[in-house]
Amino acid sequence: MPEGHSVHRLARQFDDVFGGQVLAVSSPQGRFAPAARLIDGARLATSHAHGKQLFLGFENDLVLRVHLGLYGAWRFGGDEHFTGASSIGAPRKVGETEQGPDAESGPYQGPPEPVGQVRARLVSAHGWADLRGPSACEVLTPREASSVRAKLGPDPLTAAAGEFELAKGRGTAVEHLRAARAARKEFVSRLAGKKTPVGTALMDQAVLAGVGNIYRAETLFRTRLDPFTPGCDISARKAGLLWDDIVSIMSDGVRDGKIITTRPEHRGPGPLWPENAYYTYQRQGRTCRLCTSAISLSEVAGRKLYWCPGCQRRAGARPGGT
Ligand SMILES: [Zn+2]
Repeated sequence: MPEGHSVHRLARQFDDVFGGQVLAVSSPQGRFAPAARLIDGARLATSHAHGKQLFLGFENDLVLRVHLGLYGAWRFGGDEHFTGASSIGAPRKVGETEQGPDAESGPYQGPPEPVGQVRARLVSAHGWADLRGPSACEVLTPREASSVRAKLGPDPLTAAAGEFELAKGRGTAVEHLRAARAARKEFVSRLAGKKTPVGTALMDQAVLAGVGNIYRAETLFRTRLDPFTPGCDISARKAGLLWDDIVSIMSDGVRDGKIITTRPEHRGPGPLWPENAYYTYQRQGRTCRLCTSAISLSEVAGRKLYWCPGCQRRAGARPGGT
């Protein structure tokens, strides 16, 4: 499942290539057809990510909400105005993996014939986007969209989104800074209310929105937290530092389009990604990059959790293990 950084990149992509434009919205597969008619021919006004969900606001006040889930993916194509507008490169497909351009030859001649189960298709004068296999794709009233967002915890990419908005001339630096600070405060407070292990709480989208399995494992390692420590046992100071670390690695993810959490001095020989990208993720049984312990694998919150028993101990233990 894409983690929050991918969805934020998607929001930027929609803003860049479709923002302010009238879109033809359809559902080649048919399943989304009645809802598509509600926004067909409307102008795209806003594009926001909140955690793993994308909210596209149209000028008729309706909001398209998309959650990719495990199998969903967007695919894009268009002419040079369309690809040139993209601030994240010219992505043709965004899902679990963000790939470079496909080999698509010849001048742009409009969207291709839909292939497979295209739930939603958005078309502008310069390009198109096809959505396949999402876990949610629906059109909401502003009130319904607010109620969905109210159930989500704060988003660590609030500051990154604010910078993007500011670069586009929307809002003020003070407003965006205030929003980022409020998000941090909210996270500290929500984590303090959790008796569940921090390894479980980080996957709870009501505690914070956007962290998935890779970021969870990596930030717990980087902050030397034992994943089984109850959320309420983590001090406000440490919870704040945990938030700051998540903000830092996820913001890098938005910039890079992939997750890399290691510091240069902790990397071994071989390519940076994926071999040297992580401290613990999918490194079970291998020696920790920082100590002599082997990386462990446990099942937490129904997902595989990778961690280092040497580095990640309860308060009092020295970092670095042995
Ligand atoms: Zn270690």
